[in-house]
Amino acid sequence: MDPRRIPLIAGNWKMHHGSASGIELAVAIAKVAKTIRGVEVVVAPPFTVLAAVAQSLEELSEQRGLLVGVAGQNLHHEAKGAFTGEVSASMLVDAGCRWAIVGHSERRQYFAESDALVAKKAQAALDNKLHPIVCVGETLDERSAGKTLEVVLRQLRAVLPTIVPARGAAVIAYEPVWAIGTGKVATPADAEEVHAAIRAELDAQGGAAFATATRLLYGGSVKPDNARELLAQPDVDGALVGGASLDVAQFGAIVQAAASIVRGA
Ligand code: PEP
Repeated sequence: MDPRRIPLIAGNWKMHHGSASGIELAVAIAKVAKTIRGVEVVVAPPFTVLAAVAQSLEELSEQRGLLVGVAGQNLHHEAKGAFTGEVSASMLVDAGCRWAIVGHSERRQYFAESDALVAKKAQAALDNKLHPIVCVGETLDERSAGKTLEVVLRQLRAVLPTIVPARGAAVIAYEPVWAIGTGKVATPADAEEVHAAIRAELDAQGGAAFATATRLLYGGSVKPDNARELLAQPDVDGALVGGASLDVAQFGAIVQAAASIVRGA
């Protein structure tokens, strides 16, 4: 981590939690976040509970100064229209979101989302003042074929014309597909190699200020026992956490790991 960037720990709940258990988890996370300084915390619940979670967090934040942002896990790039089952960026804002995950590998893999579509989603997010968390990452076959940087930089370049003008508003999450939900985590050195390549590309295409301002998250089986080493890498500015974000003790420990690095402890 680099002191010029505030670390961000985001939890992707995927298709888990209804309103009662979702609110319970979000409130528990907010209580942990309250005890921590210098780390931004975001949760991404399913669409159906976004508004309820956002409202509970807002009520807590008025009462106790808690700070947990809420993210949509996806959005449709059009503002409105005949797109049955879809949710627009402005609807996420209406539900209380300030963030939106776009291009998660599960969207790319199961819903055939292309690089161009992901860029449109990032644009729709930014147009609505949402911070997009743009996911990029290679499959195991691509890594084995030595194509990691080629794939990641291709995915990144597709979205750069959209996010460069937004300066530091967008976040990039490097999530090697083979590490998501598998318990296999990239080594800190492997993660840093890709993050440094992403940062260099941000610099080349958007300039030094843009590269310095943009946060890069690592995602893929981040757990309390590997978080600190990953987060200690110079170009890793936080984590996008799936499985471990469903458990307040685990997610809290990952947030604590980031906070301890900020404190220099
Ligand atoms: C994710 O879904 O973005 C993710 C990183 O999942 P997990 O932490 O479970 O690997």
